Order: sequence, then structure tokens, then C-alpha cells
Amino acid sequence: MKKIKLGKSDVEATRIALGTWAIGGTGWGGTDEQQSIETVQEAIRKGVTTIDTAPAYGKGLSEKLIGQAISEMDVNREDLVLATKAGIDWTEDGNYRDSRPEHLEKELEASLDRLQTDYLDVYQIHWPDTDISIEETAKKMKEFYEEGRIRAIGVSNFSPEQMDEWQKYAPIHTSQMHLNMLQRYLIDWFEYCRNHEIATLSWGSLAHGMLTGKYDKDASFPDDDLRSNIELFQGDKYPHLIDAVEELKDFAAKKDRNIIQLAVRWLLDHHTGADVALWGARKPSQVEGVQGADDFMLTADDLKVIDEILYKHVDDLDNGTLSEYGPPVRSEA
Ligand code: NAP
Repeated sequence: MKKIKLGKSDVEATRIALGTWAIGGTGWGGTDEQQSIETVQEAIRKGVTTIDTAPAYGKGLSEKLIGQAISEMDVNREDLVLATKAGIDWTEDGNYRDSRPEHLEKELEASLDRLQTDYLDVYQIHWPDTDISIEETAKKMKEFYEEGRIRAIGVSNFSPEQMDEWQKYAPIHTSQMHLNMLQRYLIDWFEYCRNHEIATLSWGSLAHGMLTGKYDKDASFPDDDLRSNIELFQGDKYPHLIDAVEELKDFAAKKDRNIIQLAVRWLLDHHTGADVALWGARKPSQVEGVQGADDFMLTADDLKVIDEILYKHVDDLDNGTLSEYGPPVRSEA
């Protein structure tokens, strides 16, 4: 699998990484633990040695299953890139943001423990916490970095203004943000990162499964599945997006690929796309096609055809909002 250096850090990640939100189960209608472990192992066997997770994914469950999957495999820790996050806590009522230094200290220890490792390759602040200053959080992350407990500092869902502020106090090596060919509202943030030598990781790369082509216009989801609540799946645009996806499937087939591979390549080959595309999966069969997404490239003409197909069906791919996803800050929780 092809690799890329993450910004100014010395971490080399695979350009396609495994996303493990669904493995945690929350927001995804639950999880099957054994299948999740096998998914992580299958991804690693296929060469996807970069894994993104977070304590918030199933209150530590996603990290724990990853730790277990790795411990049961014959793999060198140095050959893996483990990226996790901090800055979210929870009660029985739900999650809220907490990036206070003392909370980060506790979280780092807990994540290292669940992942069964003594360092992290990438440590990301999951969502900006506007209850405290960016300075306090950034300085604490810099401390972790200087102590060698983390190899790269990351932020996630931070605006360019927030990243500007952060960089007064600490470096940013990676930034994780929402992007896929159907949801481009943060593309300017990707451009900002490109201009500041910050490596980008895309989340929602497969539009939470829409870009797998498996849904039709009548698809429905359980209440505890995020897709039953978000605009992408529930809004007026949904049937038009499905029409576009159907046509994209034909275009992918002409190139001897499937739509998932096309969607991942769009992220990796678009001029303001991602350095690393997170491919969310929770069943071993779902990572079957990763190598076929790694070993080809879309040309400028291909990217043009994709846009022609998409804009024929949907004219506002640039609209969207992060507010559907982020947990509240402490003061509003
Ligand atoms: P995604 O990658 O857009 O979609 C993943 C889902 O697509 C899978 O869970 C699975 O859903 C379906 N899928 C994947 N491969 C498939 C295949 N081969 N065949 C059929 N279905 C397939 O969604 P995402 O998980 O939201 O985003 C990716 C990763 O980004 C996450 O896992 C997480 O690591 C990260 N993330 C970060 C943030 C953040 O705030 N930083 C937010 C969201 C996500 P089903 O099994 O339900 O069908």
C-alpha cells in the first residue's frame, strides 16, 4: 500500500487507512465484537497498517477491540500507525467536549492502555472545545509530543482560524475533516492545510456507506443509526444522490473498478483532496477492495467526468454543516 509522510512529522501512513467508528457501535446500531476484531486483522493483512479510532467510538470499545486484534496478530508495533483522539468525555446522557489539560492526561493513559501500546503515532483533538482556550490544549499536546508519548499532533474539525491560533503554541502535523465527493463543504479547509504543510485525513470518505452503492431510494435505518438523522440520507437531495451514485457505478465499471474504489480515489487524486482517506469498515468483507483502490489513479479527465455526472443530478455538493455531528461543549451538555 502506498504511503505518505504526515506533514512535518516523521510518521509515514498508508494513504488508505481503516476507520473504526462503526466498530465502536454507537451511532451505528451496535457492533459485533468478533467481526470487528477480524476486520482490523484483515485490513492489516491487506497492508492497511494505519488505523484511526477514538475513545468516543463506543466509550473505548473501538480502541479496546483494536488493541485486542493487534495483540492476537504477528505484527510489529513499529509497522503500524495508530491514530486516536482526545477531548471528548461522556456521561450516561451522552458525549460532550472536554479538552482541558488534566482531562487529556487521563485520556492519553486510558487510550494507551486500551490499545495495548506505550506510544501513539497520531493524537488528535476530536472536536474544538470552545469552553477553554486553544492555547491550553495546544500546549498540553506539545508536552505529550516532546515527551515522545505521541509522534504527531493532530486536530480534527478545526477551522482555519482555529488552526492559526493553535500554531502560535504548538505544531499541527495532521488535520482530520469531513470530505467525500458528495459533501465538499470543507474543501477550503483542506486547501488551507495543503498551504500549511498539514497532512489531511478525510472522514466520512464513503458518505457513511452511500458511496458503496448499496442503498436504494427506499433505504431505512434503525433509530440508533446516525443515517436515520442526517441530512445526507434524510433530506430532499437523497433520491438525486442515489441516481448520481447509480451512474457513477457504471463509470467505475468501465474502469474495471467499483464505486467504493472510485470514491476513495477521488479523495486521493483530487487537487484539494486528502492525503489519507479513512475507509470505515466493520466486516472483513468490507475491506476486500482496498488494494484495488490503491493501485490506480484517476486522471484529470476522469475527475471531470465524475463532476459532470454528479452535477447533472445534484447542484449543491458544496453545502453542508458540521453541526449535525459534533457533541456539545461542557457548558451546554
Ligand atoms: P464511511 O467511511 O463514509 O463509511 C463507512 C461505512 O460504509 C461502513 O461502516 C459500512 O457501513 C459501509 N461500508 C464500508 N465498506 C463497505 C463495503 N466494502 N461494502 C459495503 N459497505 C461498506 O464512514 P465513517 O465511518 O463515518 O468515516 C470513516 C472514518 O472516519 C470513521 O470510521 C472514523 O475513523 C473517522 N471519523 C472521524 C470523525 C471525526 O469527527 N474526526 C467523524 C466521523 C468519522 P455498514 O456496515 O453500516 O453498511
